[in-house]
Amino acid sequence: MITPIEATNTYFQRAAQLLGLDAITIRQLIIPFREVKVECDIIKDDGSLAIFIGYRVQHDNSRGPMKGGIRFHPSVDIDEVNALAQLMTWKTAVVNLPYGGAKGGVSCDPRTLSKGELQRLTRVFTQKVHDLIGPAIDIPAPDMGTNAQTMAWIMDEYSKFHGYSPAVVTGKPLELGGSEGRDAATGRGLLYAAESLFADNHVKLSSLTYAIQGFGNVGSWAARLLYAEGAKIVAISDVTGAIRNPNGIDIPSLTEYVKQNGGIQGFTGGEAFPLEDLLFEPCDVVIPAALGGVLTAENAGRVQARFVLEAANHPTDPEADAILQQKGVILLPDIYANAGGVTVSYFEWTQNLQQFHWNAERVNKELRHIMQNAYKDIREVQTKYQCDLRTAAFALAIDRVSRATMLRGL
Ligand code: GLU
Repeated sequence: MITPIEATNTYFQRAAQLLGLDAITIRQLIIPFREVKVECDIIKDDGSLAIFIGYRVQHDNSRGPMKGGIRFHPSVDIDEVNALAQLMTWKTAVVNLPYGGAKGGVSCDPRTLSKGELQRLTRVFTQKVHDLIGPAIDIPAPDMGTNAQTMAWIMDEYSKFHGYSPAVVTGKPLELGGSEGRDAATGRGLLYAAESLFADNHVKLSSLTYAIQGFGNVGSWAARLLYAEGAKIVAISDVTGAIRNPNGIDIPSLTEYVKQNGGIQGFTGGEAFPLEDLLFEPCDVVIPAALGGVLTAENAGRVQARFVLEAANHPTDPEADAILQQKGVILLPDIYANAGGVTVSYFEWTQNLQQFHWNAERVNKELRHIMQNAYKDIREVQTKYQCDLRTAAFALAIDRVSRATMLRGL
């Protein structure tokens, strides 16, 4: 099994070689700026002591302060956080935001922790990294297992040390300086990315069928927004189960059902099927929107769709990527397809720094503009190097970051 950092480095190397970067520059770009591992002890509600390990990896800051989410998940380890931090560097560069890349996480299962325990864990983690983050240094955001409430606690804890600092995190609640549209942003960005891709391929978004893996923040927003555009979602899954319906799933009813029951399992608007089969359903577009590493050498041959949109981070390992390319599948890579979240995070940060508030219309318009421009930039690089979209996106990003690194000097 290839690890997330090995997979990310493979994609990086492929594009770096295409650009003709020298060995020293490659080494400079690939080694992270800083890796931090911290012990986070909390008293649980039952009075016992629990110890968790937290991480923050800051990968690169040549184009601006580092940026990236904080993940609360049992699979969090230094290897994956490293991969995710590096992907953030390329992601912010692909969409041309003035940021570098970072990522953090705590190895824990947030579903087994009470709200009080989660708050204590978030505050302890913040205490351990508060002198390494900041509005001009490194700006965390939500990721898997964290949300606007988590960001509110981080902001509050950080502000105890540094004074009132809303710009230290993004993805905050609206009441605390969050941005309109941030919650939906990754799903909406995916929709705008898909619009560009489909227009380029002369197909209509609403005439295609979709299978979506994941019904968390990204998957559920993608489903809702695609459905609102008239698209037919024929299969969808979450950790509790998967359902399919060749006539299309009623997404508003499913959303309501999941709100009441906590998961997809038991929803009667479709037929239940094994969730491991979701990515291989007959449909036009597959959207992995959950964990990384789900498309592998063993299973990629089973994909039936014509398009894969990577809403999750690193869902496809390099061997799977090669198989999909051989099959003629058109794949929109994670560092572009899911960049809508960090893009609206950028809007939130700028609003905080200026103490100004944009309306939802402006946020969504600017987001669409950025996603459309990035698509054009990627396609230009693709035409120049005659490569796939992932390699083109990496090459675009690496070129921007390496130029900034060189210009800043040693
Ligand atoms: N966690 C999200 C990502 O992987 C958002 C990061 C951010 O907004 O800084 O892109």
